[in-house]
Amino acid sequence: MSVIGIDFGNESCYVAVARAGGIETIANDYSLRATPSCVAFSGQNRLLGVAASNQMVTNMKNTIHGFKRLLGRTTNDPHVINEIKHLPYQTQSLPNNQIGIKVNYMNEDHVFTPEQITAMLFTKLKDTSEQALKTKVNDCVISVPFYFTDSERRALLDAAQIAGLNVLRLMNETTATALTYGIYKQDLPEPDDKPRNVIFVDCGHSALQVSAVAFNKGKLKMLATASDPNFGGRDIDAILVEHFCKDFETRYKINPRTNPRALLRLRTEAEKLKKQMSANSTKLPMNIECFMDDKDVHGDMKRVDMEGLCAHLFHRVEITLRKCLEDSKLRPDEIHSVEIVGGSTRIPSIKQLIEQVFGKTASTTLNQDEAVARGCALQCA
Ligand code: ATP
Ligand code: MG
Repeated sequence: MSVIGIDFGNESCYVAVARAGGIETIANDYSLRATPSCVAFSGQNRLLGVAASNQMVTNMKNTIHGFKRLLGRTTNDPHVINEIKHLPYQTQSLPNNQIGIKVNYMNEDHVFTPEQITAMLFTKLKDTSEQALKTKVNDCVISVPFYFTDSERRALLDAAQIAGLNVLRLMNETTATALTYGIYKQDLPEPDDKPRNVIFVDCGHSALQVSAVAFNKGKLKMLATASDPNFGGRDIDAILVEHFCKDFETRYKINPRTNPRALLRLRTEAEKLKKQMSANSTKLPMNIECFMDDKDVHGDMKRVDMEGLCAHLFHRVEITLRKCLEDSKLRPDEIHSVEIVGGSTRIPSIKQLIEQVFGKTASTTLNQDEAVARGCALQCA
């Protein structure tokens, strides 16, 4: 029987396993290592992961995503009130202010809690692992943001239990990343020598976490952590979407904000454009056919334009980086390296800020997408 490590992200999940002396990440039935954190209900079917995400545009009200941020919270929580404003599916308040997610399934209205939805996703991850490993999987280690509260952690444990998974441990995402780094470094200082200090920056879909860790052979010590739980790649997408809404209003006399499906398509294209801008500084096109009122729309953007629009967000990144540096009490010359993980650390501005604050070029020793899952799997090895 195998033990799996799960990185439960707001956008996607990764699963890793310790096998044959190494750590492997597991591919799903679409041969992808990333499984979207997405659950959908369509007629008689329940769709999970890639299949759910693929049909989001045509089934918006019954395609549930972004639920990592609803777990263990209540409907009167200001964070939840803000979060559900942007969700295309319906929620309601259950007894004790529990969050209910309303869907149509088997031609009936159903209400599920975020724990139940998370459990459905976990059953998919469990199945994927069992198929890949050709053995039963019951035990797992799951990662959580370091700032998750007891109630958020309990909700995740409940979800795992519903999915038939036994959680050996919930591990902080920051710790998981540090473990992955430490395990393969053969040249760490001896236990009694001066430690090697490494900064880790994880910027994902919805959150930013920064940690300072001191390593010696066989030992790691968390010196400091800092976070911005409300900054991630999706916030940049939202700004790009708003920019193009205004642009299209002026040039095409259409308002995509009034059309949820158009808005979702625009968000998908804006995210693609954002990713292209990480690799190109030239002007890039964005074209969407039959966008609204049978109109094809065209827009374009340069990386510097995006940087201008998002300057206030990047300023918040800088504040979080500086906070971690201050709390760690390390001088920049005591820092060995800064390692980046998470999809949004591919953004050039974020790399530049890292260099400004820590005086070191961001290094990519770790697999940016899989480091957290690998750390979870290591814990079980
Ligand atoms: P979280 O850690 O916030 O719960 P997650 O772990 O699911 O979320 P990641 O998979 O680390 O998030 O990152 C996904 C984010 O990274 C998305 O917002 C995506 O648009 C962004 N991203 C991925 N590749 C790039 C790129 N090349 N340039 C810019 N952003 C990127
Ligand atoms: Mg993540």
